Amino acid sequence: MKKIKIIETAFRDAHQSLLATRMRTRDMLPIAEEMDKVGFFSMEAWGGATFDTCIRYLNEDPWERLIELKEHLKKTPIQMLLRGQNLVGYKHYPDDVVRKFVEKSYENGVDVFRIFDALNDIRNMEYSIKVAKEQDAHVQGVISYTVSPFHTVEKYVEFAKELEALECDSVAIKDMAGLITPHDTHELITALKEETNLKINLHCHCTSGMTPMSYYAACQAGVDILDTAISPLSWGTSQPPTESMVAALQGTPYDTGLDLKLLTNIKKYFEEIRKKYSGILDPIAEKVDTEVLIYQIPGGMLSNFVSQLKVQNALDRYEDVLEEVPRVRKDLGYPPLVTPTSQIVGIQAVMNVLGGERYKSVTKEVKDYLKGLYGKPPAPVDEDIQKKIIGDEKPITVRPADLLKPQLEKCKEKGEELGIIKKEEDILTYALYPAVAPKFLLGDCEEEPLAPPAEAETSEAPKGIPTEYAVDVDGEIFNVKVKPVGYMEIEAEGTQGPTGPVEGGITSTMQGMILKLKVDKGDKVNEGDVVAVLEAMKMENDIHAASSGTVEEIFIKEGDTVNAGDTLMVIK
Ligand code: MN
Repeated sequence: MKKIKIIETAFRDAHQSLLATRMRTRDMLPIAEEMDKVGFFSMEAWGGATFDTCIRYLNEDPWERLIELKEHLKKTPIQMLLRGQNLVGYKHYPDDVVRKFVEKSYENGVDVFRIFDALNDIRNMEYSIKVAKEQDAHVQGVISYTVSPFHTVEKYVEFAKELEALECDSVAIKDMAGLITPHDTHELITALKEETNLKINLHCHCTSGMTPMSYYAACQAGVDILDTAISPLSWGTSQPPTESMVAALQGTPYDTGLDLKLLTNIKKYFEEIRKKYSGILDPIAEKVDTEVLIYQIPGGMLSNFVSQLKVQNALDRYEDVLEEVPRVRKDLGYPPLVTPTSQIVGIQAVMNVLGGERYKSVTKEVKDYLKGLYGKPPAPVDEDIQKKIIGDEKPITVRPADLLKPQLEKCKEKGEELGIIKKEEDILTYALYPAVAPKFLLGDCEEEPLAPPAEAETSEAPKGIPTEYAVDVDGEIFNVKVKPVGYMEIEAEGTQGPTGPVEGGITSTMQGMILKLKVDKGDKVNEGDVVAVLEAMKMENDIHAASSGTVEEIFIKEGDTVNAGDTLMVIK
């Protein structure tokens, strides 16, 4: 009898999807040993956004989390989500960083590496796959699933064969927006089973509401592994409930063999966790959202648009933005929308609509994308738009990471200079997050307070127009403070803000961190010059000089966090 295996996602994807990745290690450990008894194929418990969130918001060392989890999960393999050459960050890292990161992840407890690339560009995956294979880990290659005229069953099968050629042990269909229909599931899995010898794992989010049906269709087509989340952390933008899937398959040829009573006890623990974190449970993330089927925009992105447009006082352009997303996606050659492409496409769509002219302002990420620096787009990009944005520059044809110089030694030296390296893993933390890591590693971070439970919030209704928004980016909540000009307006306007204008002052229009400072005091700048780069919501935004002149005063340094309305420098 065929047994379907189950991957439990509570410790990674489920809380990333519903609770802004905020679950603390101390809330995982008390139940870990019970979960270890269940007999899951693996527990996804590390990687994805957890690394970033740990150091940015929780004052937790992600490496220590991994070690502690390993102590409690003696039988169950620990799985991590690795973004190929992006590891657990948002850009490509050089091979020496990739190698060391994978080695250390394995050494500290990762047994299963689930490796994906947003563009399904095998060149962005092959090195991490190779190193993970050397560790003797279970290596799972991922198909990032999307729907477009260019994404056919044949293409997916071809890609799976490439993953098989790299000796992946299994392949996962990663359907991050819940787009796959039961029929297409059946067709795709049947083809993959016929044409490869790989174990097939289906990973879906419930966003569109079709997922449990697709899971059953997957069983009928011979799927080997399904991803689920314990019920209090399931549905919505998370996975289908573990207990329900186990119950649904009981007594069928697809029986999981898992103990429903044991799962129910575990569920009770997570009900308390859900209550504890209810203050950050995003109501949009919990819902079924069928608009995803029309616009292919995952739930988190929809709420992001609403906040961005509210800020701009342009909520009436909401439908326009929704309609612009598929156009931008088409222009860019139909990338699947997952980190980081979801942010790249989404923010450009907003800029296209509010800018009055398509691609009048373009983010650095879109430029880089068109230069081929993220990899090869799945389909040809729009040539006119490419020309408008990068001119006659020819996109690269080599593997993007081939252009990167080794970095580890430099990070080690610099980290030691800063006095932040206490163990080898700290070098990696610093290499991945050079702007955030030093503060964390120096012990200068504080754990953010847990938002009060949802019930408590309704007692006092906010008055007037709110100026603070929680913006959801790919399951992660960013707190954005705004002033009337709006934070999406990345050309700094200088003096128009009502928050105490400074003559010649360049202000930040959104909350974020100063990634780069491009000028010194006394420098002459021309109108439009990039004077600083602000990282907000995982995107780099150039801050331009509003007028020509001399830099008279600089109030920031690299690594500083700024709020919307803060004056960054004065140009006169
Ligand atoms: Mn997922």
